[in-house]
Amino acid sequence: MVDRPVKEELLALTHQLGFDLCRIAVCAAPPHAAEFRAWLAAGRAGEMAWLERNEARRTDPQQVLPGAKSVIVLGMNYWNADGETRKEEGVHGRIARYAWGDDYHDIIEKKLKALDEWLTARGGRQRCYVDTGPVLERDVAAVAGAGWQGKSTMLIHPQLGTWFFLAEILTTLEFEADAPMADHCGKCTRCIAACPTGAITAPRQLDARRCVSYLTIENKGSIPEEFRAAIGDRIYGCDDCLTACPWNRFAHASRESAFAAREYVHGWSLRDFLGLDDDAFRQLFRKSPIKRIKRRGFLRNVCVALGNIGTREDLPALEKAAHDPEPLIAEHAQWAIERIEARVVAQAR
Ligand code: SF4
Ligand code: SF4
Repeated sequence: MVDRPVKEELLALTHQLGFDLCRIAVCAAPPHAAEFRAWLAAGRAGEMAWLERNEARRTDPQQVLPGAKSVIVLGMNYWNADGETRKEEGVHGRIARYAWGDDYHDIIEKKLKALDEWLTARGGRQRCYVDTGPVLERDVAAVAGAGWQGKSTMLIHPQLGTWFFLAEILTTLEFEADAPMADHCGKCTRCIAACPTGAITAPRQLDARRCVSYLTIENKGSIPEEFRAAIGDRIYGCDDCLTACPWNRFAHASRESAFAAREYVHGWSLRDFLGLDDDAFRQLFRKSPIKRIKRRGFLRNVCVALGNIGTREDLPALEKAAHDPEPLIAEHAQWAIERIEARVVAQAR
């Protein structure tokens, strides 16, 4: 077991590196491994095939790092206020708050590297992960007391609410484990009521295939028509179950300036986004998590939002998009045109 002063040193270093939370769990099978397997078996992960590929490793950390003794769970607040931005003319879409600034993977990975070196110097071997690793991270984070898993399935911390990124370090060093936190959801069901697509089918049960975050980010193909209207003006992810959570009333600005909203987040109209060619897309979303879904996925989402809130002024840009060489964009643009035209006709009656 590592001495208490070394743990204190670790906590101080994580804070210095910009993390807002550092908790430790014994490295053991996550308590909800069986539920995770049942969730996969029910097909609720949709197209997220990597979850199935990693199933055995996710539920047995010894397969990831033989001899691992502890999991260091780290949290980093990304919340930023909406801010005042001049808006371009036209209708605007919403981007999930975590994607307003630079890609958190890049920022957090650098910090994990520094921690890895520090732990190695003390005799440890490590595996470090931000969100994409074979770790059931919310489950492990709850065991470590980094928060409790709310009915929205998100981890909630009494001071940070739900607005924080998680990262994990599996290490062969044995640190004293922290205690889990009590569940403070109580009788609240606001997140379930707030979900626009009914994706939270019961407390702590998420059908990813219905979730707007999945539909607009993980889903690479056409967005099923049954969900398009409910997606509303959301063009990358969804924050509704987070915004609804009363524990987010204590949210405060992130210490990391790279997470602040870029100008386009509040400033650009949907029509501005629709005008992006491949080069302009890459340039605009350089170092942003949005680059992940490429122009085809992003403009697909923009077309859906325009179909929901666009006006006749958006029709020329959509007509152009309906002839885009990328069939995914063309199909969604055509859907949007038909929706707007139907609205215009209904308003004229
Ligand atoms: S992110 Fe949006 S769609 Fe997904 S569960 Fe939360 S409220 Fe529902
Ligand atoms: S909105 Fe209410 S039920 Fe949902 S996670 Fe927050 S406290 Fe829990």
